[in-house]
Amino acid sequence: MSIQLFMPTFHVEECLAEIRECLEKGWTGLGYKTVQFEEAWKAYTDLPHAHFINSATAGLHLAIKLLKETYHWEDGDEIISTPLTFVSTNHAIAYENMRVVFADVDKYLCLDPKDVKRKITNKTKAIMFVGMGGNTGHYKDIVKLCKDHGLQLILDASHMSGTRLEGRIVGREADVVIYSFQAVKNLPTADSGMICFMEEALDKKVRKYSWLGINKDTYARSKDEGAYKWKYDVEYLGYKYHGNSIMASLGLVQLKYLDQDNAYRRQLAKWYDEAFKYHKNLVGLIPVAKGCESSRHLYVIEVNNRDELLASLNKEDIYPGVHYRDNTEYTMYAYGKDTCPKAYHYSMRILSLPMHLRLTRKDIRHIANKVIQYASL
Ligand SMILES: *Cc1c(COP(=O)(O)O)cnc(C)c1O
Repeated sequence: MSIQLFMPTFHVEECLAEIRECLEKGWTGLGYKTVQFEEAWKAYTDLPHAHFINSATAGLHLAIKLLKETYHWEDGDEIISTPLTFVSTNHAIAYENMRVVFADVDKYLCLDPKDVKRKITNKTKAIMFVGMGGNTGHYKDIVKLCKDHGLQLILDASHMSGTRLEGRIVGREADVVIYSFQAVKNLPTADSGMICFMEEALDKKVRKYSWLGINKDTYARSKDEGAYKWKYDVEYLGYKYHGNSIMASLGLVQLKYLDQDNAYRRQLAKWYDEAFKYHKNLVGLIPVAKGCESSRHLYVIEVNNRDELLASLNKEDIYPGVHYRDNTEYTMYAYGKDTCPKAYHYSMRILSLPMHLRLTRKDIRHIANKVIQYASL
């Protein structure tokens, strides 16, 4: 049987029961379950606000948009970001005509505060931090750097659902945190996400921006008395970015199991660690930062013969992935080429081993044995 990199596991009966409620009630859109899920997410994360949206990409865009407006950033102003990420992290910056300035990564594959500091100019407005694979890396140093330089901090927590640092969910230190609940993320729906602003005013505003700039959502309107339900105002040129009750139904169920699921992911990682313990000359491991209880979205290794190894594993019906290709290798971001040598180095040498809830200890041993067999010095 083939072993895939990712495979979402749903609590099917519970999900269907939740969705059934939507169908029977005749309410599948914005409101109802989306509100319930926002409340549940706030309770889980202890973040002050949460707005359910249709993807993390949409959330990242709104984060940049609203911060730009609030702090009067101008076109061409700079945001420092990582080249080792899914491209939507950086596209979100570019959507708003801001310039992505790439800083290098450290041994955690997260932004290296030393290089970030070197890349701050008088046009720098914010830092975009990605918790790679659920790792917090040098997050606290990035928080301090933002404080010292008066920069906003945006946390792309797409891999970080459930990640804790020193026992607490990460995020309060940032201006805004964005989560992805896309199908292969730790809290799978099909496509959705959450945007959590620390400022109440921005939370209020983002609810309008995600619904075309309309100043009342449909659910609130349906509860209005009188004949003037239709008479909302449109305050902004907003987008259709909000989430719906079907996705929220899946989220509500999966959230109940998030900590348990992540604990199993950490167990899988431990089994990989054990298997590679005596093969460190062949297989480089990416450390988890001190104090970080990682969501373990990924298990990344570093090898000398990555492309050959991937081909050999595919022949064995094992399908790892690569997270990520250095974004400055893409035409879009080629202006950043050669500015982040470590990110480039890693991007040529890393692969992500299968990491999902259907894998067993035996699977991990099998995968690890094949990696050891085909990795070369
Ligand atoms: C998946 C992912 C995104 C985009 O998430 P969507 O919900 O699919 O839009 C953004 N950033 C990172 C780091 C991701 O892994």
